[in-house]
Amino acid sequence: MAYIAMARKWRPESFQDMVGQDHIAKTIENAIQGGRLHHAFLFTGTRGVGKTSSARILARTLNCSGGNPLSPCGKCPSCKDISGGTPMDVIEIDAASNTGVDNMRDILEKTQYTPMIGKYKIFVIDEVHMLSKGAFNALLKTLEEPPPHVIFIFATTEVNKVPQTILSRVQRFDFKRLSPEQISGRLRFICEQEGIQADRETLALFAEKADGSMRDALTYFDQVYAFTGKTMDEASVRQILGIPPNDLYFELIQAIADHQVKGCFAVIEKSYQMGLELSPLLDGFAKFLRNLLYIRVGDVDAESLNISPTLFGKLQNAVPEISNGDILRIAKMLTDLQGSLRYASHPRLLVETTLARMAWLDRITDLKKALAAMNSPTNTAANADKKKITPAPKAPPGPPSAPEMIPEPEFDPGDFKIEFDEPFTPAVEADSRYEICGKWPQIVKNLYHDSDNGFFASNLEHTTLEHGDFAVTPFPLTLRFPAKAAFGHKEITSRKDYQERLIRILEDRLQTVVTIQMEIDSETSGGKTPRSPWEKDLAGDPVLKSFAEIFELELFETKRRSRAAEPSEISCSEND
Ligand SMILES: [Zn+2]
Repeated sequence: MAYIAMARKWRPESFQDMVGQDHIAKTIENAIQGGRLHHAFLFTGTRGVGKTSSARILARTLNCSGGNPLSPCGKCPSCKDISGGTPMDVIEIDAASNTGVDNMRDILEKTQYTPMIGKYKIFVIDEVHMLSKGAFNALLKTLEEPPPHVIFIFATTEVNKVPQTILSRVQRFDFKRLSPEQISGRLRFICEQEGIQADRETLALFAEKADGSMRDALTYFDQVYAFTGKTMDEASVRQILGIPPNDLYFELIQAIADHQVKGCFAVIEKSYQMGLELSPLLDGFAKFLRNLLYIRVGDVDAESLNISPTLFGKLQNAVPEISNGDILRIAKMLTDLQGSLRYASHPRLLVETTLARMAWLDRITDLKKALAAMNSPTNTAANADKKKITPAPKAPPGPPSAPEMIPEPEFDPGDFKIEFDEPFTPAVEADSRYEICGKWPQIVKNLYHDSDNGFFASNLEHTTLEHGDFAVTPFPLTLRFPAKAAFGHKEITSRKDYQERLIRILEDRLQTVVTIQMEIDSETSGGKTPRSPWEKDLAGDPVLKSFAEIFELELFETKRRSRAAEPSEISCSEND
């Protein structure tokens, strides 16, 4: 028996068969039943979602004399004529190859003749947006006064290119992209009918790869079926369609969690050996991270994520050492990477360096330790010496063939921060250590406008942020509360969740671990650190402060000029 492609064999024959477009089927059915039939329809939507199939079903339905106005009978002369291949009353035109005004005139001439078998002469014009301006104008005249026996069905993937004059004369239907569940559901139905063995996970792979297009899903299904026959398993589907196996992602995330850059490179190498492209590899990783995050934070089960219970369980237990915040951060780096990949002249190098940055992610840290270090100045000072900056790798990662060129960072699990110099700055937009104190007032102001953070931010009003040694990690910061903001000091120091939030905000902006001390300035200058007037000026003026830092100035006097708009004038001498 000759093999008929699944895509053709299981093409929907009635609106009931149409997957995912119930809203359209319902409207059309209502129109047919109520006898309120428009003479021109426009089907729009992305490719492979059923526009052309629906046009054909509609044509058959309208001309069928079988008695059921909603479902073509398949037996009447019209149905037989249409399924015969060259129907007399249904004319299909591909606008892409008939763009000109002369083509359109030929077509429109045919509207003069009455139908031979059915009730209507139906013109299906696919990719209608491809028509020339002249062709659209010619069409418009007929659309304004169509012969009663004529029906137009237009289909387009780019409705924005269809002139408004046409749009205002058609009944428009927007076809939705199909959900993975809808696609796997249809495939499951086909498997049942065809006696094909394929489990849920396997079918989900087709749905994932098809990205909303039923036609693509069926094409992939055919492609795999040609190799596997009646028994399809996950591994063969992945191999034939080039979908990376999940093990690869577990390996990758574990390497990131372990700060094993070599391990990350090994995953890339392995995927190359398997003949996988980078782009689907990264797409798959994005989905993997999404599932991981959903399982951790969401009220989801294997079914709702469309994955197997085994995979679900594995994800539940994966990389406990990586926090949800880390996952978000990795996901952000990944999204940035995906965006820049197609412009990259060395895509593999770009992927590898980004993975290296993920593995060296500052943020992979024990928040509790960071919190313990907080409010403990001695601890900070002691750690400062111990956690000297690890020397940066001098050479950027070499060509893909030589991943060993990059020195592995010295990672001590007891340590919660390793920092490198410049070569691998995080992809996430980050403030520099030099900027953060100057930006602090604006950060507080922004928090203030965020309804979730409003009260929290009110406690930070009037505070200033001061930093310790730039070279020290965790980066020591001091949050200084003026006497008038004592309430804020009390509130923040008494609430652990506020302290955590504060740290998170700073760490998110700095992309590094920080420690915070909170100090309150007493009214009667009895503060621990007596400050000279210029020190106070410096602390209160971020511009002045960065200026002093950048030029390493030693200040001995500040003078404020009477003109209000002028910044403080400083007299200074250069540090020798
Ligand atoms: Zn019929």
